[in-house]
Amino acid sequence: MTRRLYYDSSEIHEFDSVVEEVAPPSAEQSRPAVILRETAFYPTSGGQVHDTGWLTLEGAERLRVAEVADAEDGRILHYLEAPAKLPVAGARVRGSIDPERRRDHMQQHSGQHVLSAAFVELYHMPTVSFHMGEDYCSIDLATPSVSSEQIAGAEKRANEVVFENRPVRIRYVSRAEAEKLGLRKLPPAEHDELRLVEVDEFDLSACGGTHVDTTGQIGSILLRKTEKVRQGTRVEFVCGDRAVRMARRDYSALSEAAALFSAKLWDVPEHRGPTESGFRADSCRRCRYGGVAQAGFVVRRRARRWKPGLRAGWSPGELQCRAAFAEGGGYNRKLIPYGTQVFGKKVIGWRMASRPR
Ligand SMILES: [Zn+2]
Repeated sequence: MTRRLYYDSSEIHEFDSVVEEVAPPSAEQSRPAVILRETAFYPTSGGQVHDTGWLTLEGAERLRVAEVADAEDGRILHYLEAPAKLPVAGARVRGSIDPERRRDHMQQHSGQHVLSAAFVELYHMPTVSFHMGEDYCSIDLATPSVSSEQIAGAEKRANEVVFENRPVRIRYVSRAEAEKLGLRKLPPAEHDELRLVEVDEFDLSACGGTHVDTTGQIGSILLRKTEKVRQGTRVEFVCGDRAVRMARRDYSALSEAAALFSAKLWDVPEHRGPTESGFRADSCRRCRYGGVAQAGFVVRRRARRWKPGLRAGWSPGELQCRAAFAEGGGYNRKLIPYGTQVFGKKVIGWRMASRPR
């Protein structure tokens, strides 16, 4: 059984150990695995993904640890990226884990505890599972649906707890004690001793993962899309540096879209009209049958000139499919796009095709 140094502290990035066993590549596993006496490497478990890093042998050969897994008997397997020469049992090694990847996992995992507790506190929605991916994380809530107001509410509450910079403590209790403490989620009865993670006066749950010391280190919690799944509703989220990177990517994409329409960022959703290259293929926003919006079938938005130099008094609004357009009755006008020359530049304008019905 490997001694787990990450249980004591999430900040141990370097450690010394001894090779206990080496499993050469086999038919099922193409990479060799090293088992150490103790390790700070976190193996994939409890929704959290594994650390990566290096094992440095005496004599200075560095071996890349590509994956870390938990064996059923309590040993931790460090899978190596095809080394030139395998270490031998008894060899002394220095382990170094990738600190940026570890910090990212600590932010996501601690953020999950806070977010799950916020959903319970505000809406009595318990978390049934947690998944940490390379790009985003998700929790599955035991509820048939979550409204956008609830998403915003849980996000606000979770970030308040982050800004309050509450201490996050680790302690060990017996199972009997844990049952009396009122944990958010009691794990299945496998161990007599439980490792508890406590966010000061906000959340108490049993967990073996790596967490931050204070909630401020989570940085921020950003909720993204929700999706219906078999066991309830999946909520995607990102924390810390991932939230910044995701916001940067969204901003770049939105800026490009805004430039395309010569619009302000917040006005992009209003611009569903033609682009220089023609029309956007989009689904019909009025349609009950998921129709595809068609050029020329547009609900009137405002009676104004939408670009200087055009005769049309109608501006393009929502593109609709034929069926939704026909249902719209007197409010809709069929607007036909036409090309015109304004100061030598081709501009697409709109004219009304028929009188109001
Ligand atoms: Zn945890």
